[in-house]
Amino acid sequence: MDMTAFKNELAALAGMSNKYGANPAFVLAGGGNTSYKSDELLWIKGSGTSLATIKAEDFVVLERAKLNVMFGKEYPAAEAAREAAVLQEMMDARIEGETRRPSVETLLHNLFPQRYILHVHPAIVNGITCAVEAEGAMRRLFPDAVWVDACKPGYILALECKQVMDAYKAANGRDCDLLFLQNHGIFFAADTVEGLDVLAEKVMGALAAAVKREPDLTPIETDAAKVAAVSEQLKALYGEGSSVCFMANKEILDYDPATKSLSPDHIVYAKAKQLAVCEKCDLAAAFADFEKENSYKPKIIFYKDLGMFACGMSENEAKTASIVMLDAIKVVVYTEAFGGVSPMPDFLIDFIVNWEVESYRSKVSLNK
Ligand SMILES: [Zn+2]
Repeated sequence: MDMTAFKNELAALAGMSNKYGANPAFVLAGGGNTSYKSDELLWIKGSGTSLATIKAEDFVVLERAKLNVMFGKEYPAAEAAREAAVLQEMMDARIEGETRRPSVETLLHNLFPQRYILHVHPAIVNGITCAVEAEGAMRRLFPDAVWVDACKPGYILALECKQVMDAYKAANGRDCDLLFLQNHGIFFAADTVEGLDVLAEKVMGALAAAVKREPDLTPIETDAAKVAAVSEQLKALYGEGSSVCFMANKEILDYDPATKSLSPDHIVYAKAKQLAVCEKCDLAAAFADFEKENSYKPKIIFYKDLGMFACGMSENEAKTASIVMLDAIKVVVYTEAFGGVSPMPDFLIDFIVNWEVESYRSKVSLNK
């Protein structure tokens, strides 16, 4: 296969990926993925690579014919066996010599006939996908988009998307280029990078005009000595060598820490539950109770009237947890314009919590 034939297209794909990947309004914490397709091949972001820094030669290359047939196949009914079989076939669809692991959303990228795909989870988009009005609000603002209800990631999600995309095409005589996923994010599809930019600008502009207000993220003056003392205590509780970072603003103080998880990313980086404490609490006891109840240490600690602490085994991990939690808080603010917040259903939260463990395991085994 002569890859140099697609040199310009792959350079455009890398440029588009870097542009959106470096824009925090679109991408946080290495999330999101992009792809380009020819008639025969699909180039997609590998799992574990970052859009902001990805290069043309970093994309995983797969044969589309092998991906296309996956929708007509019978897979085991049992979840773990099915996803393992699907993952194996996806790995087998890679061109010869390809060793990297494609994104878990590969099947979905291949479904769109358009050449370029951008899939992201922007806070303002999730202001609709995580709202009570959700699908109704999307239909009002974007009558040409398709909607997919929250469902399990992987093969089931791809199947669900195929159904709504096929139905759209049958009804409208053309392919959809905008797909909203409940409690997850959005897919943009276009045949050129310029077309993708126009689409993304249109959607982000319409959402900016529709939301009630922008979150007020102005840092608030806090008791520095208190913050330092709590940080030290949390470092000791979280583990030797851990890092803690702190943030305080109006939205953090107003946030209800009992709010359930909004999207998969929030669970992956900030965990499904957060610890809420106050001045009168025994922090060490609350921390221990939380760990006992959830079988993990809290990554995010909401300290009433003080602010939000984030823990991690590195500075980067703590920082990422705080940025992703702040993203969830922003989403809640944006949902105000669409009937208020509607978190992920419990079955899906449980699924993502377990799936995280599984995907880590399979990543480890595949890297052998
Ligand atoms: Zn996604």
